[in-house]
Amino acid sequence: MLKNWTSLTTTDFSILDAMDPVAVLVAGSIEQHGPHLPLSTDSVIGEGLLEKSLDFVPSEVVILKLPSLCMGSSPEHNEFPGTISYSPELLIENVVEIGSQVKECGVKRLVILNSHGGNSSALDIAAMRLRAEIQLLMVKVDYFRFPKPSQIDLPDSEWLYGLHGGALETSMMMHLKPELVRMGELRNNASWLKELAEGHRRLNKDRAVSFYWMASDLNPSGTVGDATLASSEIGEELVEYYSKCFSEVILDASEIDLSRLG
Ligand SMILES: [Zn+2]
Repeated sequence: MLKNWTSLTTTDFSILDAMDPVAVLVAGSIEQHGPHLPLSTDSVIGEGLLEKSLDFVPSEVVILKLPSLCMGSSPEHNEFPGTISYSPELLIENVVEIGSQVKECGVKRLVILNSHGGNSSALDIAAMRLRAEIQLLMVKVDYFRFPKPSQIDLPDSEWLYGLHGGALETSMMMHLKPELVRMGELRNNASWLKELAEGHRRLNKDRAVSFYWMASDLNPSGTVGDATLASSEIGEELVEYYSKCFSEVILDASEIDLSRLG
């Protein structure tokens, strides 16, 4: 069962303890996604996955949807107009403040659904602080790191390198908000990361090695991937798959024995 934090009244919080809800915070971004997708792409996808995941969660599990963090940390996209981004430090402080006050309201479980890769490190730090400082049960999901679904027919290169404005995000947007996709602007933009992987020893091949880039390093357009392969059918399948994965995380978070947290 979904409850929107913003639709509750202040007196509702007296019964939160008995409901033992799982609070969910969607963390997205407002950042350039090329000429074909809106700045809100990551936020739309995060919200869409949460909404669809409700189909797979039994009604006795109470999900408390916090107001989404529409703006994230996107310094790698700052050179493109339209991007509005927090510094990583501010994002960390933001999430720690939100989590702390959520706990004060009687919530003990918080799951962050992250839909923007650039948020991930800051969210890790914030989540660890909330776990350590106020004993909140914290789980973070980077939806794009769930295993690749087997049933979707896209080339391997798209899963490896087409991760910003490519076939995956464009397909999900065509399913979730088709009116916001500019179909005449779909392009195939190769990523420099593919060249790096092919021409070097460990760069972009070895999980031990991180390489830091600005979006324009990967392709001057700011996006990577083949958006011409996108379709609303693929988008529907992706949303279904990722939201099912996410629903299992919610169930796991709802079942954890809090007495084990110390
Ligand atoms: Zn994105």
